Amino acid sequence: MAFTFHGGIHIDEHKTTRRCLVETMPPPKSVSIPLSQHIGAHAVPVVKVGDTVDKGQVIGVIEKGLGCPVHASVSGKVTAITEKNAANGMKIRNIVIANDGEERLSPDIKPWGKSLADTTTEEIIEIIRAAGISGMGGATFPTYAKIQSALGKVERIIVNCAECEPYITANHRLLLENPEAVINGLKILMKAFGLRESEIAVEDNKLDAINKLENRLVGSKMIHVRVLKTKYPQGDERQLIYALTGRELPVGKLPADVGCCVFNAETCAAIFNAFAEGMPLIERIVTVDGDCIKRPRNLLVPLGTSFTDIMHCCGGLIRSLKKIVSGGPMMGVSQWDKDGVVTKGTSAILFFSEKAENRYEQPPTCIRCGRCVRACPMRLMPNYLATFASQGKLEQCEEFDVIACVECGSCSYSCPGHVPIVQYIRAAKGQINDRKRAQAAALANSQVNPEKG
Ligand code: SF4
Ligand code: SF4
Repeated sequence: MAFTFHGGIHIDEHKTTRRCLVETMPPPKSVSIPLSQHIGAHAVPVVKVGDTVDKGQVIGVIEKGLGCPVHASVSGKVTAITEKNAANGMKIRNIVIANDGEERLSPDIKPWGKSLADTTTEEIIEIIRAAGISGMGGATFPTYAKIQSALGKVERIIVNCAECEPYITANHRLLLENPEAVINGLKILMKAFGLRESEIAVEDNKLDAINKLENRLVGSKMIHVRVLKTKYPQGDERQLIYALTGRELPVGKLPADVGCCVFNAETCAAIFNAFAEGMPLIERIVTVDGDCIKRPRNLLVPLGTSFTDIMHCCGGLIRSLKKIVSGGPMMGVSQWDKDGVVTKGTSAILFFSEKAENRYEQPPTCIRCGRCVRACPMRLMPNYLATFASQGKLEQCEEFDVIACVECGSCSYSCPGHVPIVQYIRAAKGQINDRKRAQAAALANSQVNPEKG
């Protein structure tokens, strides 16, 4: 029996790259590495223009608070430290490195010297922190901090291999081509948490990967393969936990609050690479697809590689480009320009033409069919939320629990009236959060300066 959740939608998968082996991209002439690729503080550069750097060398560190160090993904010379637009539109400082083509590895990169059995939880956390690993499914939360905050609360780890967004096949290929890295990464995490059992969860549209994992894990009492029904958004943490455990994750709570910790498959592989080889997170698998790209592929790409370089590596464009999306078409982010770069959270880059993008060009009209309500995995009423949000009625949005929306886009996708529901909801959530932040700042200010209040 395949595990599943309430609501959700069945989408055209467009997984044209499912049989495309992961190919290592020829290193680009230069990379532009953002000093923030994760949730938390921005890293501070520890190199300067003109410095020669080695591949894997630390080039940015976190001085205070939550965050991950940043490493050079190629060897070469630092040519600039400059601000650029990130995928989310924020200005972020980047370290630009001209690749010298020598692939000279930093002498700091060496395997962890002890066996896993002799390695403590604190040591595992430090290996993961030093390797700069953050969630590679798109959430980009620093992995060391996720482990720290969940210690003592978790009874099972779930490796998330749902990969439910259309087009993306990076995790699927990883499971087929290097399942050991995922399994070994999970074992390292289980050691850190002191767990004896955990699960790898895969949607049933990846039967070859399920078979591969089951063959590798024959007789294992520690790691179980769980088959999920193929349905969007099965990869959302809440839906995944509900599908496997029946536990509902309340809004504002973390998976550890219901005894679970969820890690992406490629994050597990990165943890294994850090432990076994001392290799920091400097490259990742990216699915390159969309109706504009000549040769859709799965590429292993150095972090900081530009979308333009990737486009050329895939044969260029075969029709006029309307939009580039970083991530999947449902929850990914439209890009500002072709000079965006691959970061730790970039699972896919999709190049779309006008034809693929004309879905919302008809005037939106709600015909009260209720499909969005049936599709919503969070049991919300997206039609009402869209109406309130479009009219600026934030109080009503809050009453109808808008903050619980996980922005999966299932409602918009299933809407025959082409109502851009999730866009309305996202805007309303942003305004509500801005208002709350302003209220909190005003309160803090009045407490510090009571005479002004
Ligand atoms: S309301 Fe939010 S959670 Fe529900 S389907 Fe729409 S985007 Fe997904
Ligand atoms: S799916 Fe679209 S048309 Fe149907 S009720 Fe929801 S918003 Fe209205």
